[in-house]
Amino acid sequence: MTSEIDLLTRADALARDYVAGVRNRRAFPAVDDIAALDAFDIPLPEQSNDPAQSLELLNRYATPATVTSNGPHYFGFVIGAVLPSAAAADRLVSAWDQCASANVNSPAAAAIETTAARWLLDILDLPRDASVGFGTSATACGLASIATARNALLARQGWSLDTMGIAGSPPIRVVVPATVHVTIKKILRVLGFGDNNIAIAPTDAHGRIDPTKLPEIDASTILCLQAGEVNTGEFDPFDTLIRDAQAQGAWVHVDGAFGLWARASERYKHLTTGIEHADSWTTDGHKWLNTPYDCAVAICRDGRLAAETLNANAPYADSEPTAQKNLTLEFSRRARGIAVWAALHTLGRSGVAALVEQFCQQATLLAEGCRDLGIPVLNRVVLNQVLCGFDNEQQTRQLLAAVQQEGDVWFGSGQWNGKAAFRLSVSSWRTERADIDRCIAAIRRHLPTS
Ligand SMILES: *Cc1c(COP(=O)(O)O)cnc(C)c1O
Repeated sequence: MTSEIDLLTRADALARDYVAGVRNRRAFPAVDDIAALDAFDIPLPEQSNDPAQSLELLNRYATPATVTSNGPHYFGFVIGAVLPSAAAADRLVSAWDQCASANVNSPAAAAIETTAARWLLDILDLPRDASVGFGTSATACGLASIATARNALLARQGWSLDTMGIAGSPPIRVVVPATVHVTIKKILRVLGFGDNNIAIAPTDAHGRIDPTKLPEIDASTILCLQAGEVNTGEFDPFDTLIRDAQAQGAWVHVDGAFGLWARASERYKHLTTGIEHADSWTTDGHKWLNTPYDCAVAICRDGRLAAETLNANAPYADSEPTAQKNLTLEFSRRARGIAVWAALHTLGRSGVAALVEQFCQQATLLAEGCRDLGIPVLNRVVLNQVLCGFDNEQQTRQLLAAVQQEGDVWFGSGQWNGKAAFRLSVSSWRTERADIDRCIAAIRRHLPTS
């Protein structure tokens, strides 16, 4: 059997080789490399294998079939690459294997995540005494936040969800933008809201809530707003919406999976004016901050309310309002906030601002390149998302399919005003001007001829 140290040395060497070559890999694997993944479709081994053999199988068959989202010319979804600082910290965190549920399990993780939380509130300019739970995703953190919102609104009406349960409770309504992200719909389904208790707020031509058409809001309403609509990158008009909703006693939650990071740049922060008055916010580390998966945060203005909803108190693990186990869905958990700490420590305030500005400026270049090729750009490109589509949907689909099949660069499909579109997202720290040009060249190669 290969020794642990030899095995880790080999894994490190393979990881280094991969990262060293990531700039030159195609963005999406070739058909043959994907077909070779059949090598994994074997029965459970009856006998033990040398761990080096397991590692070699991964490297031989999976490495070539990876999507190069950790590279510079992958423009799909809003994925983000991995910063060297965050990736290196995460490697050490894996070796530590801390159970970072509370201080009692890992004083080191608790100390570092406490600082990471404080830095996040500083750079995102949110209330400095808010709670920050490091969860797996904006979905899981959004679920934690909206569960907190429901508990809090019910408690204000004298209904304790903990003792009285959901059956017979006063109805809580949720208002979401027409362009709401699919994961918010998933959260509401999992929490059992039901379509009858969800009101859709009509949006304007840019995908933002139109305040003049807002459904009725009252003290039984959770209003979900967006910082960074996933197609257009646009922002709801927070200032008036939040002020008016809170005057009615509503809870305002902001889904800022990537767009909340606009606050880190003085050039883009104005897009989020008033957002700091919300009651809860979610954002990802694994998108714009370029930390490894899975990493996101649930931020709650009143941390006691979050801990009341999410606490995992036990005779052997009592209630610490600051313990991570009381602020997210997870109990046992990896210390994912350490990668956030490392990214922020290495980049500093100016480095994060530069990253945000890089994404946005490169998106502007992509949009210019598309327009120069005669491709209509459907959004204003206020952030990092570029939405394109021909009048003739068939042409849009053809171009997208051809670029995806070639695989040199990659981006995905979208829909806007009921029509087929394609969407380019810049969110990798590795992306340079040459990669923007490479993307435009790929699009040019596959322009529809008719
Ligand atoms: C990606 C995204 C989410 C979900 O985030 P996950 O971390 O993938 O769960 C929610 N809202 C928006 C706007 C997103 O872009």
